[in-house]
Amino acid sequence: MKTVFEIKAPVLPVAGMDAVFPVNRVFCVGRNYADHAKEMGADPTREAPFFFSKPASAVFVPSGEVPYPTRTADLHHEVELVVALSKGGSSLSLEQARAAVFAYGVGVDFTRRDLQAEAKKQGRPWDVSKGFDFSGPVSALVPAANTGWLDKGAISLTLNGSEKQHGDLSDMIWKVDEIIAELSTYYTLQPGDVIFTGTPAGVGAVNRGDLVQVEIKGLGSLEFRMV
Ligand code: MN
Repeated sequence: MKTVFEIKAPVLPVAGMDAVFPVNRVFCVGRNYADHAKEMGADPTREAPFFFSKPASAVFVPSGEVPYPTRTADLHHEVELVVALSKGGSSLSLEQARAAVFAYGVGVDFTRRDLQAEAKKQGRPWDVSKGFDFSGPVSALVPAANTGWLDKGAISLTLNGSEKQHGDLSDMIWKVDEIIAELSTYYTLQPGDVIFTGTPAGVGAVNRGDLVQVEIKGLGSLEFRMV
């Protein structure tokens, strides 16, 4: 049936393919590296992973620049492994979870930290602190068929040439298959779903004019300037 107007579905390029990945939903994992959980004042023991969302429209591959958002004076960077699914289902086994992974990318879960702190204090939702426009810049996706199962590799964020965040994917408290399996007990996962898997320690402020570079060794990198 005809729609009353057209909407542009967000898509991500896939390295080595002339087809793009259509983004369905975007889920994010909180506090998935022990050193970051500690810096946010939490206990890094293996409590069950917790999730929040960004709208699909928040995810994009920047062409050199990312706009600084409105309504914040404390925008924080969080470099993360991003996982893109081509299969879905509910209550997936770890094996089914691994089979659902189509590709990986490296991205930033931008956070209005001042609004998040206020939301935590007031017991309010995190949406405006996490799900704003341009809050999820990500690299072109790399098919899992090329990388193999990704469970280790240095992950880092450099700000104006100075390294601010550094960790290793092997430090993740909840591994990618465990995250997908757990998430699939809350939602029937669908092809096109994208997951940000948490950030290592060293999160901090980004300002207009800053050059942001993120990398996962063996996967890829992304570089942009805040404007
Ligand atoms: Mn995050």
